[in-house]
Amino acid sequence: MEILDGLQFDYSQDLLGRKSLVIHAMGEYINSGEDGVYPAAQFLEEVGLSVHFTVLPGGQVLQHLPISKRGAHARGYNVNTVGVELLVRGVQDYDSLRKLMAYEGTTFELYGRAQYQGLITIMQHLVDNYWFDDGLQYTYHEDLSPDRKHDPGRAFDRSHLDEQVWKRFHV
Ligand SMILES: [Zn+2]
Repeated sequence: MEILDGLQFDYSQDLLGRKSLVIHAMGEYINSGEDGVYPAAQFLEEVGLSVHFTVLPGGQVLQHLPISKRGAHARGYNVNTVGVELLVRGVQDYDSLRKLMAYEGTTFELYGRAQYQGLITIMQHLVDNYWFDDGLQYTYHEDLSPDRKHDPGRAFDRSHLDEQVWKRFHV
């Protein structure tokens, strides 16, 4: 996850005005260098970011913000989106996480199957609360900001999530 924020805005007309879930990834613990190691939620708070949900490596879902409140997780897209961070096990820094997400030199599943179910749980919650205006929508941070974001990366099995979404919601 990149934490630097500048005066740059990236809008995608096809997302604006609709409601979508944005899927991110970050370390379960973040090594921030001199400042030490923070648990993910505390790290986000320290740098002024916020998401609605995190999904722990074991698949458990934690809610950090009501869905009626705006998060600060995807620059230019915070108004009409709910943010969820998939937490990658262990202590990560920007470079280690980026390599893992790109599948460089790794052969294991970075995101556990239980985490995909965690996403389904969140989607069910949003559907139950009539949150999606225009049908169930989800997107990935790296697709919203391809020039500067890399999460959740190639290590995320999009077709597996699509399959699970189809099974549950038939969309
Ligand atoms: Zn992100």
